[in-house]
Amino acid sequence: MDGNFISKVRVIVRVRPFLPHEIAAKNGNPSSCISVVGRDCDPREEVTVRLKDPDSSRNEFYQLDSFFGQEDNSVSRIFEREVNPLIPGIFQGYNATVFAYGATGSGKTYTMQGTDQLPGLMALAMSKILSICQCTASTAELSYYEVYMDRCYDLLELKAKEIAILDDKDGQTHLKGLSRVPVNSMAEFQEVLSRGAQRRKIAHTGLNDVSSRSHGVLVIGVTTPCSGGSGPVITGKLNLIDLAGNEDNRRTCNEGIRLQESAKINQSLFALSNVIHALNNSKPRVPYRETKLTRILQDSLGGTSRAMMVACLNPGEYQESVHTVSLAARSRHI
Ligand code: ADP
Ligand code: MG
Repeated sequence: MDGNFISKVRVIVRVRPFLPHEIAAKNGNPSSCISVVGRDCDPREEVTVRLKDPDSSRNEFYQLDSFFGQEDNSVSRIFEREVNPLIPGIFQGYNATVFAYGATGSGKTYTMQGTDQLPGLMALAMSKILSICQCTASTAELSYYEVYMDRCYDLLELKAKEIAILDDKDGQTHLKGLSRVPVNSMAEFQEVLSRGAQRRKIAHTGLNDVSSRSHGVLVIGVTTPCSGGSGPVITGKLNLIDLAGNEDNRRTCNEGIRLQESAKINQSLFALSNVIHALNNSKPRVPYRETKLTRILQDSLGGTSRAMMVACLNPGEYQESVHTVSLAARSRHI
């Protein structure tokens, strides 16, 4: 990767399987509204995704970078193909970002955080990074924060603490005083991750289920001694982001605080899509300054950084999937 290299942000689709109660509701035979046209032979080739409206004969088609369907329900395959290639660069001082994007219930948290039995992309990335750390004498540390209503909260403090988003004189954006916790083993990682995830659930008293209405950002920072031992160390980081669920207000009938939240969420997801679109189309101006999230991520999106977005879909939700995939496809290079 040389300094002038601008990598494209890959945008892929993951369709989760039907859940047991969804299968039961359709008498054991639910039908998916999402399919891929042709077959995804070469994972590096773009694919055409078809969304079929069950209530009419209407079809919508979108071009994306890769497709992981229900029959291919393995997060480790997504990791190997799409996330693993980003990791070596982190040890050479480059930053990378992985987003999970989609409606609430589409599988974002499952994909990023996983479950106790099945690791998600966060744990798979950490495990790979720790194994490289052992060979290179590098060290890893974690930060975990959430962005809710354009405010930023540290999830590794005893009580989720609001932190200031500051610009320095070079125009770089910083999170002042964000916790950084050294991690040497997967057991330590799991402890920190679940502590942060727990805080995320209870951070805002009086509001239910903010976790799906905020962007959760786990940062794995890596510090590598320069070869030979003298000279400055090399730092790089991987941001793993569980984005807030996108919502269609015409359908959810949100009111009051919910409507405000939802407007903020949609505004920030749209701004993120604009940033990715500008990067993918080599636009001279990238609108990072429009929202807090894109400001914070400016050092990890574009330039020499690499990024990937997983658009998560519920196979039984046509309108919602159109909403997600159209924004995802729009972010891609065209
Ligand atoms: P989101 O974070 O987008 O709101 P979740 O990750 O919480 O959605 O997923 C919603 C439900 O679907 C959860 O019960 C989760 O366990 C289940 N689920 C999501 N993705 C998968 C998958 N790939 N395989 C099996 N179950 C899944
Ligand atoms: Mg979630």
